[in-house]
Amino acid sequence: SQAKADEETAAKAAARTTDKSSPTIFDKIVKKEIPATIVYEDEKVLAFRDINPQAPVHVVLIPKDRDGLTQLSKSDPRHKDILGHLLYSVKVIADQEGLTDGYRVVINDGPNGCQSVYHLHLHILGGRQLKWPPG
Ligand code: AMP
Repeated sequence: SQAKADEETAAKAAARTTDKSSPTIFDKIVKKEIPATIVYEDEKVLAFRDINPQAPVHVVLIPKDRDGLTQLSKSDPRHKDILGHLLYSVKVIADQEGLTDGYRVVINDGPNGCQSVYHLHLHILGGRQLKWPPG
């Protein structure tokens, strides 16, 4: 669709032009400088509702401290603990959101993955029958 093509173009432009070392909008959400509907928080991670939801439940889950994790493909062994913590947090949030019939976890990585924000994040999508394969 046109919307999907626009999304890809925007993601590719973002990947080209973004200074991936500078803070992103997600840092502002962590610092509570811009509003977000926070659904889960602990000392290491924060989860909030996606501003442009793709399903009845669409939560974005991030590490509070980006610590070089602009994207999954930039992770290194020091990130193993936080990566595990994030994945277990998905389970906790899905339970909290009542996603008893299943859900999907997505990490968009880089331009081909249509990543637009260079602070690692997991999408938790549910509340409807999702299709496979994704676009
Ligand atoms: P990605 O395309 O995987 O990088 O995902 C970034 C996601 O962040 C998109 O689904 C956006 O809708 C979402 N997003 C961007 N800005 C905000 C914001 N201020 N509050 C909530 N979600 C946001």
